Amino acid sequence: MQALVYTANEEMEFREEADATPLDAGETLVEIEAVGICGSDMHAYLGHDPRRVPPLILGHEAAGRVLDGPLSGKRVVLNPLITCGHCDHCLNGQQNLCAERDLIGMYRPGAFAQRISMPHRNLIEIPEGMDAALAALTEPAATAIHAVNLAERALARPISEARALVIGGGSVGLFAALTLAHRGVTRLTLADTNLLRRKSAEKTGVAEIINPIDHPAADSSFDLVIDAVGGKASRQASVASVVPGGVIMHIGLMDNNDGLDIRRITLQEITFIGTYTYTPVDLRNTLRHLHSGALGKLDWIDERPLAEGAKAFKQLNSGDCGAPKVILRP
Ligand SMILES: [Zn+2]
Ligand SMILES: [Zn+2]
Repeated sequence: MQALVYTANEEMEFREEADATPLDAGETLVEIEAVGICGSDMHAYLGHDPRRVPPLILGHEAAGRVLDGPLSGKRVVLNPLITCGHCDHCLNGQQNLCAERDLIGMYRPGAFAQRISMPHRNLIEIPEGMDAALAALTEPAATAIHAVNLAERALARPISEARALVIGGGSVGLFAALTLAHRGVTRLTLADTNLLRRKSAEKTGVAEIINPIDHPAADSSFDLVIDAVGGKASRQASVASVVPGGVIMHIGLMDNNDGLDIRRITLQEITFIGTYTYTPVDLRNTLRHLHSGALGKLDWIDERPLAEGAKAFKQLNSGDCGAPKVILRP
């Protein structure tokens, strides 16, 4: 089969690879129709993720058609998070915290390919006729929706009353903003340093869009801050921007250290919450939201053939691609 393979630092190669084969009983082959490029794929491409060792097929935001097994012929979204299914976390609906969790495109091949083998229980059927590129947005959108769900429980007042700041206008940040708007948040600001991404975000019409470099957000007026970047500067901005008693959701993982003013967090009773991926139920709910149009017109997707994936990685890295999400089609 043909696949886009991460071969070395900043090298992606579209080439012939051995066909996908089931790694286990209970797995099934899926023909990929659409697969998104994630910030974490970019992170790996730059050699910043020790878990993703080349040569490796990356990609985990995928939709396609099942080729065999019980769902043969059905169109599905992949739940890329493979978990044990029997630990306390899995049984408690917190599969994202399973100690044995594995993501496709990390220790096993990902979805930048014509075919992939997946456990049956990681396949979620998609509504008849739903566009594969739209369905492939389920994974990043679910990451944002899971984070907003956690934030909603931590806020002292109803989320619709909150003044909210989202830092980062990639797909997860943008989906966080769209989800907040859908839940009635009207005082919403989105910050991104990239002009092209600010322009894409502006088109959604749900938030005031700012360049954080021009607006050092130190006025401590946001009840909720969602950090979809996760770097030192964005963490500093998060702590400086949040109201006393407010909530910071930390989603991005650009780097791991620095930027937290622990003194302010302590003295102002700020809630700082880390959030990772989603549960299977989050994925199902997100798919329904995308299909119903609840998150608005998602016309900011940039679709390209998988064969041109290497160029997309280069452009995303140099900041020459303003689309919050590039979807590749094998
Ligand atoms: Zn991702
Ligand atoms: Zn488990």
